[in-house]
Amino acid sequence: MSTSHIHKKTVFITGSGRGIGRAAALYFAGAAPKMWNIVINSRSRREELLKTEADIKALGADCLALSGDVGSFENVRSMFAQINERFGPVDVLVNNAGIAHLGLFSEMSSEQWDLILNTNLTSVFNCCRHAIPHMVRQKSGKIINISSVWGNVGASCEVAYSAAKGGMNALTRALAKELAPSNIQVNAIACGAIDTEMNQCLSAEDRQALIDEIPACRMGTPREVAELIYDLATGHSYLTGQIITLDGAWI
Ligand code: NDP
Repeated sequence: MSTSHIHKKTVFITGSGRGIGRAAALYFAGAAPKMWNIVINSRSRREELLKTEADIKALGADCLALSGDVGSFENVRSMFAQINERFGPVDVLVNNAGIAHLGLFSEMSSEQWDLILNTNLTSVFNCCRHAIPHMVRQKSGKIINISSVWGNVGASCEVAYSAAKGGMNALTRALAKELAPSNIQVNAIACGAIDTEMNQCLSAEDRQALIDEIPACRMGTPREVAELIYDLATGHSYLTGQIITLDGAWI
């Protein structure tokens, strides 16, 4: 079947050099390569980003790889200018870039606090602020925020991260109300333990102890998160403002 008449959509997935973001980018490419322009991003490891770009292109999808810190408003402005020039406006925004920080709250520096809040929460403002005007004009759009169960319940020794993800959850609920009249859906996925580099700091023992706590008896896979991201990106136009927990019944 000819695909020339299909209106291609553009998806921007932040933090997609590895882990959940990479799995999501590859999922879009694999599911409908001629339907999607896929924009990927990471801050530091350029080689991972280029590998992901090559893997997406091998599946037959168009891809733009942008290095840059989504915690910086100016960097995000420049990234959106490049996306506009290459593909036009963003139809689906996946706010996935994030970093964790383990440590006692009382030992945390203000620089560490700023880094966690900028990367996990201010980045969502930065990207939404640039994506939304077009979505409002076209009266459609999807925003999917990758959150954490710690944003729901809080975690000891991850106070800043919990605060950032809790803020992301509140932002999701509030923004969904503001944008519902424009037919834009805003949802979050509150992940439990997903098997990515973020958890590679765990010793074999700690990893097993964590798995023993999860009723599903295992960690989630990046692909399982990707499936849910794709599902939210391609349907469910009456589902908005939700924090969907994906944790194997852990928390
Ligand atoms: P990974 O560490 O595997 O990947 C994170 C990605 O984000 C990397 O590509 C990294 O690239 C990029 N990144 C980090 N900081 C920035 C930045 N400032 N600007 C642009 N890109 C950035 O993490 P996961 O895939 O596990 O996590 C993805 C999301 O899922 C995060 O928001 C995380 O909080 C959330 N999550 C993960 C859970 C898990 O168990 N894995 C549980 C709950 C939530 P680079 O380092 O090259 O910049």
